[in-house]
Amino acid sequence: MTIKTGDDYLASIKSLGLEAHVMGEKTDHLPEHGLVKPSQQAVALTFDGAHDPETRELFCVESDLCNDTINRFTHLHRSTDDLVNKVKMQRYCGIKTACCFQRCVGLDAANAIFSTTFECDQKHNTAYHQRFKDYWKWVQTEDLVVDGAMTDPKGDRGKRPKDQIDPDLYLRVKEHRNGGVVINGAKLHQTGMLNSHEILVMPTMAMRPGEETWAICCAIPTNTKGVRYIYGRQVSDTRKLETSGLDVGNPVYGGQEVMTVFEDVFVPAERIFMDGEIDFSGILVERFASYHRQSYGGCKVGVGDALIGATALIASMNGVGGASHIRDKIVEMIHLNETLYSCGIACSATGEQTPAGNYQVNLLLANVCKLNVTRFPYELARLATDVAGGLLGTMPSAADLADEVAGPYIKKYLAASPDGDVVDRIKVLRLIENLVAGAGSVGYLIESMHGAGPPMAQRIMIGRQANLEEKIARVKDLLGVN
Ligand code: SF4
Repeated sequence: MTIKTGDDYLASIKSLGLEAHVMGEKTDHLPEHGLVKPSQQAVALTFDGAHDPETRELFCVESDLCNDTINRFTHLHRSTDDLVNKVKMQRYCGIKTACCFQRCVGLDAANAIFSTTFECDQKHNTAYHQRFKDYWKWVQTEDLVVDGAMTDPKGDRGKRPKDQIDPDLYLRVKEHRNGGVVINGAKLHQTGMLNSHEILVMPTMAMRPGEETWAICCAIPTNTKGVRYIYGRQVSDTRKLETSGLDVGNPVYGGQEVMTVFEDVFVPAERIFMDGEIDFSGILVERFASYHRQSYGGCKVGVGDALIGATALIASMNGVGGASHIRDKIVEMIHLNETLYSCGIACSATGEQTPAGNYQVNLLLANVCKLNVTRFPYELARLATDVAGGLLGTMPSAADLADEVAGPYIKKYLAASPDGDVVDRIKVLRLIENLVAGAGSVGYLIESMHGAGPPMAQRIMIGRQANLEEKIARVKDLLGVN
């Protein structure tokens, strides 16, 4: 078995020959496409980390499943240390890329499916767990990227799946055939889908009696017949297509979101891990969501590190790096960011072993982590905007900077501290702009709000997990109240 390098990964994705609708055109040249390439570079970093002497130890781990060393991005956690190391690895990837590096959804889906199939088999005498182990062993051995596909379009939010006018608004089993099933529907907000080798389809919520059709969990290759991809737009994304890399803000990396349509897609039986067991659909959703809420305590913190670094740098380029009110704002940003990290570490360190043998995060603390993530990055973005100054929203373009008439004026009037170069100052401002209001804000802000579920989903879980009754009982005990 080989642990892929970033270049191996890029070659393997290219060989899949995926096609997508991108900005009104159907293209099969995705790896060369200016909108797609930065997102592939970000995923490639998750492979290179396993070869870099500085990070190899963090990224490489022994697998019980294939009895070999694998990339941690395909690992089934065997201890709380593994959970902690996952968060550390995500923080590293976050600061290196300053964007979403996309590979965590498959990792989180795998750990959730591993434990859920085990318990489902025990109750229903099904055979999903061994099937999933065989499948995931192959994923580990081939060092693949897997998209965890959960979010259905949901149509009329006031209606259940079976009451929708169009039953495909929740991805469903359309037909049971000899040797497998045919699925129809769509998954929205698919992070990194076009950079993945495989798709792990999961139900979007807890299903009820009569909704067995929508309780489906299965795997298909991304280049399966009947799967169609429609690329998502991001703020200022066409800056990625400009010849000068200056205005894009993040010159190397970027995120990717895709709408994915499944039209009469056949899934063979050996790739089905749930088919109608409604009592385990909610458990699977809850576990996947909690792992991904833990993930945010690493990846968003890493991106926050990049924003803090850029903010401190621009303050110093502006000549106010030593001002006490600036220092205080940067300390506030650090405090908020490290609070998120503390949550990511805490829900990992207090995780527990599941009956299947892998480790699950502490559900309460993972949800506290994500609820904080729905707020703190917005405050970090506000403070960065404050420190950076109004130029963040008014800077002339790179094309004007290159113009022989306008360029010298821009260089003259955008000069600040004599220690700093004008073009470097523009680069730093563009990175901050990217994260607080540009393409990077999709990953850093909107995804922080809605990825792995919106704030209300975390509040519901916190309410369920907090054991309020015990707290009341202890107060009664303390006070002698009946
Ligand atoms: Fe990974 Fe974060 Fe992107 Fe989710 S949002 S895939 S945890 S980098």
